[in-house]
Amino acid sequence: MAHHHAHEDASPIGRTFAITALLLIIKVAGAILSGSLALWADAGHSVTDLAAVGLSWYAWHQAKKPATSTLTFGYFRSEILAALVNSVILLILTLGLLLEAIMRFFHPTAVNPFAMLITAVIALGGDLYLAHGLKGHANVNIRSTWLHIVSDAAGSFAVVIGAIVIATTGWTPVDPMLTILIAALISWGAWQIITETVAVLMEATPKNLDVHHLVATMGQIEGIIRVHDVHVWSVTTGKNALACHVVLAPNISMKDSQTILRQVDLALRLEGIEHMTIQMETSDADHDEPSW
Ligand SMILES: [Zn+2]
Ligand SMILES: [Zn+2]
Ligand SMILES: [Zn+2]
Repeated sequence: MAHHHAHEDASPIGRTFAITALLLIIKVAGAILSGSLALWADAGHSVTDLAAVGLSWYAWHQAKKPATSTLTFGYFRSEILAALVNSVILLILTLGLLLEAIMRFFHPTAVNPFAMLITAVIALGGDLYLAHGLKGHANVNIRSTWLHIVSDAAGSFAVVIGAIVIATTGWTPVDPMLTILIAALISWGAWQIITETVAVLMEATPKNLDVHHLVATMGQIEGIIRVHDVHVWSVTTGKNALACHVVLAPNISMKDSQTILRQVDLALRLEGIEHMTIQMETSDADHDEPSW
């Protein structure tokens, strides 16, 4: 498969979905055959991976839908909502895994290390194949998917080591220990996504933007006295918007103001603002001028 995709290309998502589904079936079979809780954890994680990939596939289609008069921002936020719901489910899943792992410390169960080893090796191979196919992609969502798969591969690798430990020493507590490790990996990733999506829903200033810098940038344009009532947010990750008031010098004509507006537009686009609403006023506007 070629490594250069257009931004609109959904084929990596489709391939990831198919392989993740296959890995899930293999992990469930391996978990039943081996009795390994770590593999059950891995399989449970694959279910949520499948949901996540399915959701981003869905979101990718939603994002192409045009905005309407009743949904003027379009469907971009459906991606954010889906990611948030998915991550909350992931966190709940890890709680269940932790409880089961603690039980296993007190009531150890027999584990077949060979079934465990074969399954984990296949899972590791699948993860590495997926990671290779997505490597070096420009799209931010595909890049975060890549990071996720790399951490999945680390989890599978840990299960490989665990199976070898059980096969050579018979020390079964390594299985619930690995379960806790995988649960920690899952919840760390889930927490990142929860904080990111909640920030978008709170209309937080996008992480890579500094409002003070944006205000200073506009303030440098000739004819602009000051800027106030600034709001910066993202409709979805990477799709930034800004609204503000710009106070013009008293001698600026309506015609000149349009030149200034074009300069503001260009300067903000260079900073990564895709959608902006600029209210141009004179000092006579006579209203409160909060910074934000
Ligand atoms: Zn995963
Ligand atoms: Zn305001
Ligand atoms: Zn104003």
